[in-house]
Amino acid sequence: MISENQKKPLACWRGKERYNGETVECLTVIFESGGCSWARCRMCSYRHERYQTHSCEELAGHLHAQLGWVRSQFRLDEFSMIKIFTSGSFFDPDEVPPAFRTEVAQAFRGKIVIAESRPEYITAETIESFVSDLDNCTHATPLYCAIGLETTNDPIREKCINKGFTYADFTKATAVAHAAGAGVKAYLLFKPIFLTEAEAIADIRSSLAGLAKYVEMISMNPCTVQKRTELELYWRQGAYRPAYLWSVLSILKDAPVDVTCDPLGGGQKRGPHNCGTCDYEITRGIRDYSLTGDRDLIGALLDMDCPCKNEWEYVLAHEQPYCMPLTR
Ligand code: SF4
Ligand SMILES: [Zn+2]
Repeated sequence: MISENQKKPLACWRGKERYNGETVECLTVIFESGGCSWARCRMCSYRHERYQTHSCEELAGHLHAQLGWVRSQFRLDEFSMIKIFTSGSFFDPDEVPPAFRTEVAQAFRGKIVIAESRPEYITAETIESFVSDLDNCTHATPLYCAIGLETTNDPIREKCINKGFTYADFTKATAVAHAAGAGVKAYLLFKPIFLTEAEAIADIRSSLAGLAKYVEMISMNPCTVQKRTELELYWRQGAYRPAYLWSVLSILKDAPVDVTCDPLGGGQKRGPHNCGTCDYEITRGIRDYSLTGDRDLIGALLDMDCPCKNEWEYVLAHEQPYCMPLTR
């Protein structure tokens, strides 16, 4: 039974993650917060998720009740990693009151925490204080600031995503995080709107090559068509096709650095997909690879035969920028 000071977060689940070459138990929590301060990215529906209140105390109480629920439902000693998302930035003080952040750090003390934030909220004071509450010397890097950089290319981030910050803003935040004793995880978005399949692959390849010196972890997220987004409008008009899973494989196979990938919605029309026949095996293989780092598996999947592979190769060779996609 859920008591009055417990409230289920937007989502919370257990899973496994690869960390320093090992597989660790990970708890992922998505807290319902005050909401994203930017709320303008073209592909994002999380920006609609916000707890409506003008009172900081009420917001802190709402978050406190969600942490209470997490504590009541899971044995925290079973997890060495905790991934925290909000519907925006965990380190934005207007979205997540600082007192609640302290509570979170104390609850997860001794674990590796990965918390997502826009770069403007990664300040020395905020990160130092969170690291000091979290750290009990169990891990060399107790906190990773996760930033949705999406791409290292400023025009693509601005025009195709409308992210509202630059690569320079990101690299500055990585320096602040490192100086404060935290690591950095970057999220890359594979195939935002307005790019052809080939352009999207080239964008991720150059992002991976440029990023390695700034971050310790990289996760590539193939773009999905979320409800109530600008991307969904284009998709409904046939002006956007989610990436082929073949493309995801080809990027992972040659990536110059370790990159993980969870192809959300893999094989579905709103997510990265091929023809429907080969999707399940490839999606499962990409998930396995993210846990094991086994590139031979990626190579074997890429060598598989399926009639849709010819279609993918045709799209790569013939899809033109600024026109409608060739397939759905
Ligand atoms: S992607 Fe992140 S920054 Fe952009 S609107 Fe969504 S929550 Fe805000
Ligand atoms: Zn196929």
